[in-house]
Amino acid sequence: MPPTAANSASQPGDPPGTQRVMVDAGARVKVLLPLPLAGAYDYRLPFDLPAEIGAFVTVPLGNRRVNGVIWGPAGEDGVAEDKLREVIGVHPLPPLPAANRAFVDWLSGYYLAAPGAVLRMAMSVPAAFEPPRTRTAYRRGTPVEGVKLTAARQRVLEAADDGFALPASELARQAGVSSSVVKGLAGLGALETVQIPDEGRWRMPDPALPGADLSAAQREAADAVSKAVEEDDFSVTLLDGVTGSGKTEVYFEAIAAALAAGRQVLVMLPEIALSSQWLGRFERRFGAAPAEWHSDLTQTQRRRTWRGVAEGRVRVVVGARSALHLPYPDLGLIVVDEEHETAFKQEDGVAYHARDMAVVRARLAGIPLVLASATPSLESHVNALDGKYCAMHLPQRHGGASMPDVQLIDITKDKPGRQQWLSPSLQKALRETLDAGQQALLFLNRRGYAPLTLCRTCGHRLACPNCSTWLVEHRFTRSLQCHHCGYTGRMPQNCPSCDDAESFAACGPGVERLWEEATALFPDARGEVVTSATVHGPLQAAAYVKRMANLETNLVIGTQIVAKGYHFPMLTLVGVVDADLGLNGGDLRAAERTYQLLHQVAGRAGREGHPGRVMIQTASPQAPVMQALARHDRDGFLRSELDLREQTAFPPFGRLAALIVSSRDEEAADRAARLLGRTAPRGAGVEVYGPAPAPLSLLRGRYRRRLLLKTGREISVQKVLRDWLKDFQVPSQVRLQLDIDPYSFL
Ligand code: ADP
Ligand code: ZN
Repeated sequence: MPPTAANSASQPGDPPGTQRVMVDAGARVKVLLPLPLAGAYDYRLPFDLPAEIGAFVTVPLGNRRVNGVIWGPAGEDGVAEDKLREVIGVHPLPPLPAANRAFVDWLSGYYLAAPGAVLRMAMSVPAAFEPPRTRTAYRRGTPVEGVKLTAARQRVLEAADDGFALPASELARQAGVSSSVVKGLAGLGALETVQIPDEGRWRMPDPALPGADLSAAQREAADAVSKAVEEDDFSVTLLDGVTGSGKTEVYFEAIAAALAAGRQVLVMLPEIALSSQWLGRFERRFGAAPAEWHSDLTQTQRRRTWRGVAEGRVRVVVGARSALHLPYPDLGLIVVDEEHETAFKQEDGVAYHARDMAVVRARLAGIPLVLASATPSLESHVNALDGKYCAMHLPQRHGGASMPDVQLIDITKDKPGRQQWLSPSLQKALRETLDAGQQALLFLNRRGYAPLTLCRTCGHRLACPNCSTWLVEHRFTRSLQCHHCGYTGRMPQNCPSCDDAESFAACGPGVERLWEEATALFPDARGEVVTSATVHGPLQAAAYVKRMANLETNLVIGTQIVAKGYHFPMLTLVGVVDADLGLNGGDLRAAERTYQLLHQVAGRAGREGHPGRVMIQTASPQAPVMQALARHDRDGFLRSELDLREQTAFPPFGRLAALIVSSRDEEAADRAARLLGRTAPRGAGVEVYGPAPAPLSLLRGRYRRRLLLKTGREISVQKVLRDWLKDFQVPSQVRLQLDIDPYSFL
């Protein structure tokens, strides 16, 4: 229904950008429910309940009540009149914006997912639909005699003087005291308690505060992205600049432009929970913190932020994938930082790629998008080459810091000792770095002590009971873990197969074992192991950053989380212990990912005055990806990767979709997979590989078979898949998962 003057308006108090398109009183409406159903259901809107398209409503479903969204008017030909049930209530919230609704439909069509399953991501906070709660707040009461005014109490009364009622914690924070001082004053009658709506308070980020003094190249890029914001139309700018070149400073200017225009901004970061440095920078630049959105939030934080976004009170959201689904009424800009990160690909539930969907979201809303990376994904690189994206380059590090010197170490020649993993040259460099009072980082993308444990007597290997993988020994927690399903067990005393005692041998290194080696070599080093287990939230991340900044730690041994955008001026040596690790497995993007990851790790070295060096241990120093790293020849690497993909018609020159058939019953999985194989589509530009056992042929107790559909770029994989699957009945004990544009081939 197109908006007309008569039925389209915004209401007083609506956030800017709100379009209300009223539904006729008493009309039939389609209501989409956040459930994996095939489509929206028909309901009748009672005559006395005005509502608009996009309104959040409560409807009956069976004998339950569920919240959903009015998706549009429904024809008279749907559910019979006597079966049609009525909408129970309309939530006093702004409607789900049209761009969000179009986004749900688009995402569901592209990924062949139930629209309700997609809507569920936008309605992930049930508490947001409950009546607003209240909380106790404190303000200055009438002066009371006989209250002893300590300095702390005095400060609280001063902070409370502006007449606003504030929660105890906030008042205490402003006064620099503990909440008990506030509550004590209330008990004495010097502060008055009132009930206020329990809503988040967000200070407005101030775009007028001065930004950095930009270099000429930075200024040019900043002008381009700011202009895109002012044009207020769909565009994609790829900020392609080496690590430390000031990409963040540049897109801060775009954010400032959007804020100055009164619009909302979404910034997507792959690991927001660990991005304390980024949050600090934002707050210093704009004088206020952004709202965060990630899985570490409490339910209360989620409710406040969801409503704050819906009601337009939250101006800047920084979040992970799921932040894309928040109900922004007036989004004016999206930024995706580290756009190449595979963490943007969701593997569970609806398997979607948040960077790709950010492009779609921006297009549907008609707003600009900024993608930032030092190592753009091949997909984005090609779009820039084709002129679909506007590319802005920042070839130099800010402040004259040079790119680190990268040296390849051939470990077949420069051999580490037996049961050791640090080559003599890397050991020497570590010694020099520590002696110079600088910091070193050893990168090994493997958690735990050893990836494989076997019995020396009988050769038995300790395997996961639920998956076709080996268990990883973790010595710090004295456990055996499966990194795929989360299984944890104790290390057995005797071999479960031959019952021999003390016969286990650890094979291969994990970060814990490397730590053992490094501390034995450098007993004076202040070493620390950093993995997702030791640094898994904002607090630990901030503590880690602090230990590094204070030089309390001078040797970090870590997995990929140390590759993140941390900036440590005294970190001058990065050692990549096993650069070949990510190249095994025959994954389409193995080389690309290895390049991106190692480049990012390398980018931690020498970010300020002290020159950095990077030593990469590899058994194949001649491999193109290693050569490209050593020569800083990213574009050469991208060209050779592109050639390869083009010759083989793999993405972005062709399209892929994976079908994963799984069941607890191996026979059933095989049967279903074979049936899919027999009915597989054929034709020009369409190929199907498999079925074959997945590399992880057993995962969480389910047997898995894979098929891979590959088509030409001009062919719609969605259509091919729909035709293929339309007559396929998924047997009851079998699950069929579709993965469009797959990133994982396990
Ligand atoms: P990138 O995002 O490209 O890795 P950053 O924006 O993080 O780069 O910049 C790297 C470092 O240099 C940061 O500490 C940043 O504050 C600083 N920096 C970058 N550009 C400027 C500038 N024009 N003036 C002052 N500091 C800058
Ligand atoms: Zn397992």
